[in-house]
Amino acid sequence: MRKLTLLMMLAALGHMASAQKKIVKKLNSQVEKRAIEAHLRFLASDELRGRDTGSPELDIAAMYIAQQFRSYGLKPAPGSESYFQQVDLVKNLVPKTASIKIGDKEYADKKDFIFLDGVDTTLTADVMYLNYGLEEDFEGKDVTGKFLVVKPGTPDKQSPREYFSITREKRKRAQENGAAGMIELYKSAEFPWPFLVNYLSQPRFAIKDDTKPFPFAWLFDGAGETENMVVEYDSTLTVNIDGIVSEPVPSRNVFGWLEGTDEDKKDEFLILTAHYDHVGVTYQGEGVDSIFNGARDNAIGTTTLLETAKFFAKNRPAYSVAFLACTAEEKGLLGSEWYSENPIIPLDKTYFNFNTDGAGYNDTKVITVVGLERTGVTENLHTAAETFGLKAKKDPVPEQNLYDRSDNVSFAAKGVPAISFSPGVKAFDDELMKYYHQPADEVESLDMDYLFSYAKSFIYAAYLIANMDEKPYWTPGDKYESEGNKLYGKE
Ligand SMILES: [Zn+2]
Repeated sequence: MRKLTLLMMLAALGHMASAQKKIVKKLNSQVEKRAIEAHLRFLASDELRGRDTGSPELDIAAMYIAQQFRSYGLKPAPGSESYFQQVDLVKNLVPKTASIKIGDKEYADKKDFIFLDGVDTTLTADVMYLNYGLEEDFEGKDVTGKFLVVKPGTPDKQSPREYFSITREKRKRAQENGAAGMIELYKSAEFPWPFLVNYLSQPRFAIKDDTKPFPFAWLFDGAGETENMVVEYDSTLTVNIDGIVSEPVPSRNVFGWLEGTDEDKKDEFLILTAHYDHVGVTYQGEGVDSIFNGARDNAIGTTTLLETAKFFAKNRPAYSVAFLACTAEEKGLLGSEWYSENPIIPLDKTYFNFNTDGAGYNDTKVITVVGLERTGVTENLHTAAETFGLKAKKDPVPEQNLYDRSDNVSFAAKGVPAISFSPGVKAFDDELMKYYHQPADEVESLDMDYLFSYAKSFIYAAYLIANMDEKPYWTPGDKYESEGNKLYGKE
């Protein structure tokens, strides 16, 4: 570090303080409550019918966001004239009917098993038991044309969530090795089987991949009978799949950016994110409101993102800033996952992700920051909240694992330091649940004064993060730090 005399230091501090005062003054004069209310009233209107992924109303919301970006003077993606990033999703439906027979034992569709992938087919194949279906389980085995039966997860990954996260990789391996299909034997008691079957029977959204369909089922084997059978006997299996559906769902992220003012910093980007989708319409009964407006989740965040873009366009920070409104968050963070796999700004040039999303709020004295102490921006968050009469606090429900449940995690998993800014939550209590993913989540029930302060706090925090002397990084020891070290070549 350069040597500073006390006088120089005091002068620098004084300059910083007056620059910050200036920007706060601008925030107070330029950010307008009525603009915030206007975005909210549009995005959370009944006319947009809950902004469901795949719906025309979500496209209208995307168009609205893109044209706001245009009006503020944001640039579209480099090399493009459009503010849209195409996101290719599919909607999967389990087969109308299916059957599995192993040896003499017949299993019942959606009671004993459920197909999660495949094409309409009837096939008979020899069964091969392959332990967990991991890399080493394939060694020295010829699985060509065999129907594999495996245990789910891995020896040390045995929660349903982990089953899910590893299953795609397992399927791919089985398919590449020429297997005819695969069954995983579900055992976990943690997630009751009937509940899981019901959940999986709903339409499931996924990122479109180019792998060919591959017959794949989960089969309940609580007592281990099926496992014993396939381990002990050479069995033959017959499956029938009829009426399986995988239909394309085109969707879009909305992207725009502003160039930084500092020659040395402008090649690196802060990316601000908010998902603009919600869960649409679900019939609640005759004459009952059935539109899930998603005012809190996440018209608030989308509005805040828009107003940040508007403010930054007039008050450009030192670093470049990208703005990303994500689709399909409610379908499993798919829009942000897509972006992180297909980044418009290379991720190693993206030094931070600042997300805004929330389940709702029940404490209008605070800002809840998910990941408050996980990166080097904590002080900025306290400053920004306090400037507008609020307090930045950690999320009070660590058991809800909120950090891994919003778009910030798509960036964190790639190593980009990321946090999520949310309206104040003191607990997941009745007051919160009254609105969380409910038709009651309407604009009329919002506290506009609070949201005005919320938006200004976010904008100010983002401004501070976009002007830091040193780029912020993970708090040492964070679970995503090692990914960051890889991404930025720090090791
Ligand atoms: Zn949300």
